[in-house]
Amino acid sequence: MGIYDTIKERALAEGFSAMGVMRPDALPELPDRLATFVDAGRHGDMGWMAERMNWRGNPAALWPEAKSVIMLAEVYTPDHDPMEVVGQPDRGAISVYAQNRDYHDVVKKRLKRLGRWLIEEAARQGDTAEIKVFVDTAPVMEKPLAQAAGLGWQGKHTNLLSRDLGNWFFLGAIFTTLDLPVDEPGRENCGSCTACLDVCPTDAFPAPFQLDARRCISYLTIEHKGPVDEALRPLLGNRIYGCDDCLAVCPWNKFAATAREARYEARADLVAPELAQLAALDDAGFRAQFSGSPIKRIGRARFLRNVCYAMGNSGDPGHLPRLEALALDPDPVLADAAAWAVRMIDRARV
Ligand code: SF4
Ligand code: SF4
Repeated sequence: MGIYDTIKERALAEGFSAMGVMRPDALPELPDRLATFVDAGRHGDMGWMAERMNWRGNPAALWPEAKSVIMLAEVYTPDHDPMEVVGQPDRGAISVYAQNRDYHDVVKKRLKRLGRWLIEEAARQGDTAEIKVFVDTAPVMEKPLAQAAGLGWQGKHTNLLSRDLGNWFFLGAIFTTLDLPVDEPGRENCGSCTACLDVCPTDAFPAPFQLDARRCISYLTIEHKGPVDEALRPLLGNRIYGCDDCLAVCPWNKFAATAREARYEARADLVAPELAQLAALDDAGFRAQFSGSPIKRIGRARFLRNVCYAMGNSGDPGHLPRLEALALDPDPVLADAAAWAVRMIDRARV
């Protein structure tokens, strides 16, 4: 068995769902694509996208000694319908990937294990391998790299999808000095489907294959630090951490396997948590509830900001006492969100 097949066999044994390999310089058009996105301001206030453009646009510049990039996919297909909670105004909708442990930790550990094995395997074959491991880190544009490595294609919703895996998967990358055989790039296969574009609550796609992050609920509820534009707040509905709508409607998911990784099985308390319970969390309560979860990274104030928007959108006067208390919170963005929610509920009552 050649080194490529040996690595693939090991990657699958480690729990990855698919593997592909590309050359670091296989995407000469990437710098222009990234520059167009950033020049149009579609990255919002994700300043790291603009700052590291020379690396992000050019994987070969990130580590010039690297000869191959091994791209790996790890499936987290939910075993429940993620859209069910979106219709329940007293509950909060949390993106599937965040309904359990922080996937960075899980995938990174697995990538490192595979990387260590690769170094040893190369040594056994009389070769020397150096590696660098990346998972959802600023310098690497994983989606176009994964397409170039044949793992699938970037769909009209801009996420990666494949015939075998659907679109619920995490991506990780191992850069290596080993000169490995490469895969054919993935070919776009969306056809005439527009399901993801049509379902988007905020109209965040200016055109197929293009996303304006400034209108995307995933960006607004996770990355965006300040107050959300008032015109967009009603469109958030009850989505309090991310949004899965465009992923959930993709027809290719019907071929996908559910998550093999037990750590990705949804925590029962995060599938459809009560807004009232979340709004009552103090700092210690927030940290305890979201220990080990990616939600912890945005902090209590930003999370409760999102909960307040959802409460405002529910129109439920039962939330008023808590919202009135939160309107006095020392965090100005949270206080503004709570005051807005009070106004929305009052307006719904007249
Ligand atoms: S995640 Fe939600 S808001 Fe963002 S593009 Fe997809 S459907 Fe639209
Ligand atoms: S929903 Fe349709 S258009 Fe969107 S990514 Fe999936 S196949 Fe492509």
